[in-house]
Amino acid sequence: MSVEPDVAVFLPFENSYARLPERFYARLAPTQVRAPRLVRLNEDLARELGLDPAYLASPEGVEILAGNRVAGGSEPIAMAYAGHQFGGFVPQLGDGRAILLGEVIDRTGQRRDIQLKGSGPTPFSRRGDGRAALGPVLREYIIGEAMYALGIPTTRALAAVTTGEDVMREKALPGAVLTRVAASHIRVGTFQFFAVRRDEEGLRALTDYVIERHYPDLAGSENPAAALLMRVIDKQAELIARWMLVGFIHGVMNTDNMAISGETIDYGPVAFMDTFDPATVYSSIDEHGRYAYGNQPVIGQWNLTRLAEALLPVIAEDREKAVEIAQEAINAYPGKFEAAFIAGYRRKLGFFAAEDGDPALVKELMDLMAANNADFTLTFRGLSEAAGDPAADAKVRALFDDRTAADGWLAKWRERLTREDGDPADRAAAMKATNPAFIPRNHLVEEALNAAVNNGDLAPFEKLIGVLARPFDDQPDVPEYTLPPRPEQVVRATFCGT
Ligand code: AMP
Ligand code: MG
Repeated sequence: MSVEPDVAVFLPFENSYARLPERFYARLAPTQVRAPRLVRLNEDLARELGLDPAYLASPEGVEILAGNRVAGGSEPIAMAYAGHQFGGFVPQLGDGRAILLGEVIDRTGQRRDIQLKGSGPTPFSRRGDGRAALGPVLREYIIGEAMYALGIPTTRALAAVTTGEDVMREKALPGAVLTRVAASHIRVGTFQFFAVRRDEEGLRALTDYVIERHYPDLAGSENPAAALLMRVIDKQAELIARWMLVGFIHGVMNTDNMAISGETIDYGPVAFMDTFDPATVYSSIDEHGRYAYGNQPVIGQWNLTRLAEALLPVIAEDREKAVEIAQEAINAYPGKFEAAFIAGYRRKLGFFAAEDGDPALVKELMDLMAANNADFTLTFRGLSEAAGDPAADAKVRALFDDRTAADGWLAKWRERLTREDGDPADRAAAMKATNPAFIPRNHLVEEALNAAVNNGDLAPFEKLIGVLARPFDDQPDVPEYTLPPRPEQVVRATFCGT
């Protein structure tokens, strides 16, 4: 049963996307669920959005978060988009199980989408049930909030509720709804949706909308569409470099999962690497390793090329001219990625100055970590400590199978540091502020999800969220959260559970 907006309950929604032409979305309300129960509310985020956490946690608020009640002011819609999934083009995807309730203007004046995920079938569901299971909802909650705390652009979780209904996957699982907050939910695939239909008017309307909403400084450009393409390329080069610098693997970098805002979006079979290996893949659906850790930069370029193609008709009337402009923008991506990547690595290694030999030193460390089963996160946290206290070199070398080889690299690093100014304690502090001690390690995430789903025990989830909110602080009371998995704890595959 669908719900009508309830004007007695008013949230300060704005609906700029719903003002776009009707073919951009389908209007429909969420499907009601049997027995909504609040699992977690992100109170800080609620306040940031100008919403009252006490109200959202009240029975009425929970009804809204479950989709049982549509607040007055909301014009719920499912957004239309297309996308390349694992390289194959699907001309019509769209929000199959997500409903945009509307937008709010946050405390900083930024427009943010509020969306329910798992809120019932939509005209874009294809064969899906429109539902989400509790495990994947909590995974998205954990990873999104961890990314936020790491300072990486991301959508965020405002709330998770259980529905009191089962969803059928390989077995019956508790159903849940995630409330997701994003700068917007416009994707590369949104542009593709109009491009494949040769709907130039739609493309133009979308381009104008995106510029006004996300990149108003581009409005006066000589060629706004070309400027937009370049800006999205900048944002994605920066974003993917940030992923690489913390060992993050998105898992499903389809073009419908690449946000135009430059936020990380759609956490499915997502994972952080423990032992460093560029070929790492966790996703059970990624048979060929298309979205392996080390492939992410190249896939980023592939996706952006799809965006460039979609934008061609709005870049220039003359096809050849448009291709030339788009190609030039795409060609800039590798250099932009490399620049962001190496700048990030300099921060990770405690180099304030730039030297020509730095990329080679970074490459040598990566090869060494890969050859010696070194834990990625612990290596850099160890180096941070070692920058302030040479005695901590021992901790770093102990992470490598071949400790002599590690000594060789450490000697080069120390030699490089002799050409840096500044106090070792300051260097160590700066490195600790960029090299996290705490990441959402797969075994910890799995443990938290299992406890919640199988035993209704939310304590491990709550504790993990708390620890991950301060990833750069030493938290001596929870040493077990810094550790890689023991052999029996290793998670080999993650599932999107859709
Ligand atoms: P994802 O892999 O989560 O990015 O989803 C890809 C597409 O499938 C999106 O259009 C989703 O909305 C849709 N989808 C995923 N799971 C479901 C589901 N359970 N019911 C309906 N649509 C779904
Ligand atoms: Mg998606």
